[in-house]
Amino acid sequence: MRTAVIGGGWAGIAAAVALADAGHDITVFEMAPQLGGRARSVAGQDAAWPYDNGQHILIGAYRDSLALMRRLGIAPEQALARLPLALPYPGEPGLRLPPGPPLISFTRGVLSHRGWPLSARLGLLSAATGWLARGFRCAPGLSVAELCVGLAAAVKRDLVEPLCIAALNTPAAEASAQVFLRVLKDALFGGAGSADLLLPRQPLSELLAGPAAAWLGPRLRLGCRVREIAPSWRVDGETFDGVVLACTSVEAARLTADLAPDWSAAAGALDFEPIITVYLNSPGSRLPTPMLALRDGPDAPAQFVFDQGQLGGAPGRFAFVVSGAAPWVERGGCAEAVLAQARRELAWTTPPTVDRLLAEKRATFACTPGLARPPARIAPGLFAAGDYVQGPYPATLEGAVRAGLAAAQGMGTGAKGAASGSPTKTP
Ligand SMILES: Cc1cc2nc3c(=O)[nH]c(=O)nc-3n(C[C@H](O)[C@H](O)[C@H](O)COP(=O)(O)OP(=O)(O)OC[C@H]3O[C@@H](n4cnc5c(N)ncnc54)[C@H](O)[C@@H]3O)c2cc1C
Repeated sequence: MRTAVIGGGWAGIAAAVALADAGHDITVFEMAPQLGGRARSVAGQDAAWPYDNGQHILIGAYRDSLALMRRLGIAPEQALARLPLALPYPGEPGLRLPPGPPLISFTRGVLSHRGWPLSARLGLLSAATGWLARGFRCAPGLSVAELCVGLAAAVKRDLVEPLCIAALNTPAAEASAQVFLRVLKDALFGGAGSADLLLPRQPLSELLAGPAAAWLGPRLRLGCRVREIAPSWRVDGETFDGVVLACTSVEAARLTADLAPDWSAAAGALDFEPIITVYLNSPGSRLPTPMLALRDGPDAPAQFVFDQGQLGGAPGRFAFVVSGAAPWVERGGCAEAVLAQARRELAWTTPPTVDRLLAEKRATFACTPGLARPPARIAPGLFAAGDYVQGPYPATLEGAVRAGLAAAQGMGTGAKGAASGSPTKTP
């Protein structure tokens, strides 16, 4: 089969590799000058130290992403720093999961949390036991805030809210409890190491996009924006036997407006949440750990900070992540507010200065309760792949990879991915 893959983010790369492995004659169309999509690097003044479009975290449960990296010759053990799940705050050790079987590790981690009263720790363990007993399922219309209403305020502030904003990029009051529970299930109960944090040690351009471009070779057309898909199947006038639409939901909606109006309307109806990344410089400074959680608030935009120098990046560069950043996009002044937050909350060897702000207005879809996401199958021979298509995960690299594998499977490759279960099933 001659198969076109439109879009070269992680979903398009996953689909292209699975299709090629199954013997398809593939062509990947990518409108940008590089692969990677939202997980890309952006050049800086010093070519040796590019900026990432946004700090990305993977977790041990991202099995299909890790398998894709291996397939492309990347060793995740070298490309990613693996850290046991810990949420330290400045001056506070926070929650730390010790090594061991997930259930025991979670219980021991919660019980040994010094910052929470015993009643708060027992309340969390009791709630988690309830979630486990119900198979990590809940009513689709429930929000994360409603799910966790009975938990102590400190547990919500130090654990639920930062995990929710990091994983779903949606504030707990507006975020889908069903999707949140699925992430918790895979992270905490998905087998040894599933909850580990995997932090890139390389710029995103080298983590997957560069090796993927080399692997695809002449099958990749960069700087090539697809303008039109016509039935059975003509991509800008060129005939293919099938098409995987791995572009953004906005572009997918545009390209299918006449071909599949209902599907196009569902893709076009998604709302988005922005993420802002503020890079600060402070030569000689170092965080106690490569990643720290921060308490956000009206004058404190960032929820996490990453020490790039400890992760193989530019020494003295710190990435502050502002997820659920809609209020800051509207109000402005985010870089100055992050600088003030950094000066207040962290110890610096040299006073930090603002290096760069990168704002991605459509970073992820807003992962709200009961959200209807478009299915992978659009028509026979036409499948969508992207972090937004129906699936158990929020907008993440793993969600994108699974969607790519599901689209390839729909085209008849038999690709199932390393993880169990069909990505098109709701959780
Ligand atoms: C700032 C930020 C931080 C994030 N942090 C994390 C994180 O920590 N962990 C995590 O797991 N996820 C994170 N994400 C989410 C993750 O980046 C996305 O879920 C994932 O990259 C989506 O991949 P995709 O292939 O579905 O879509 P995209 O990456 O958007 O790829 C779509 C591609 O299609 C191309 N395209 C669009 N239209 C056309 C056309 N007409 N013709 C040809 N090409 C076209 C685009 O140029 C793009 O390359 C973050 C995202 C952002 C923005």
